[in-house]
Amino acid sequence: MTKTTTMGSLRELQKLDRRMSEIRSRIRDFDPLLAEVEEPALRLEDEHGKASTRLEQMKTDARRLERSADDKRARAKKLEERQTQVTNLREETAVKTELEMVERSIEADEQEAMQLLEQVRQNELLVEELQEQADAARAEVLPRQEELLGERSGLDESLAELSARRDTLLGMLGTRERQVYESFHGSGRAVVVAALTEDGACGHCFGIVPLQQQNEIRRDEGLHRCEACGVILTSEPEEELDPEPVVPAGSDDSGASSETDDVEASEASVDS
Ligand SMILES: [Zn+2]
Repeated sequence: MTKTTTMGSLRELQKLDRRMSEIRSRIRDFDPLLAEVEEPALRLEDEHGKASTRLEQMKTDARRLERSADDKRARAKKLEERQTQVTNLREETAVKTELEMVERSIEADEQEAMQLLEQVRQNELLVEELQEQADAARAEVLPRQEELLGERSGLDESLAELSARRDTLLGMLGTRERQVYESFHGSGRAVVVAALTEDGACGHCFGIVPLQQQNEIRRDEGLHRCEACGVILTSEPEEELDPEPVVPAGSDDSGASSETDDVEASEASVDS
């Protein structure tokens, strides 16, 4: 059961806000990571998109060329008919010249169309190949992407839980304490509550606190703030920090801790 004194709540809020700020920063770190993981798939998808656009443009050009050749063939057919109806040499020469021009132009169009169709064919192969590569890259990045997204949503959930706990704690505070806490937190300060040291100094800035105020703090009367740095002062000792559950697998630290126990034990025996 967590203690529910005002100072206890303020300190827990302080701890929660630090933890939440850490989590927010870790959540932000996912953006570049996700972008980096997805990059190969995005690059190939982009290439595929550009190649597809080029291919469509080529097909449009080929159709336009076909229509132009059709028009010219119709024109050639008319000229051929006119050739049979000419009445003099001048007219015959004129029709013949134009027909030759139209036929040369049709030939050029056909040549161009053939080249274009060959390009279309090659580009169809390229588009197909890029599609396969993009699909493969997308399939390859997916597991890592999902893993990262899963980790991130885990952090989102932790943040939501902490945020709910924060609301509860704020609700347990008096209006004045809440205002002081929120204005401190809002201005980006991490420390809101500090313990009064044994020799009567602020535990945050170590400025000396007037004797009268020291006494009131020790008797837990009212809300007192350090005149120098503004933190809320309390006589309650700092709680032991929660051990973070980040013990690496397989670690064995039984050696180091027993040594300090021995020192404390021998000091205790001297005192008594
Ligand atoms: Zn201070």
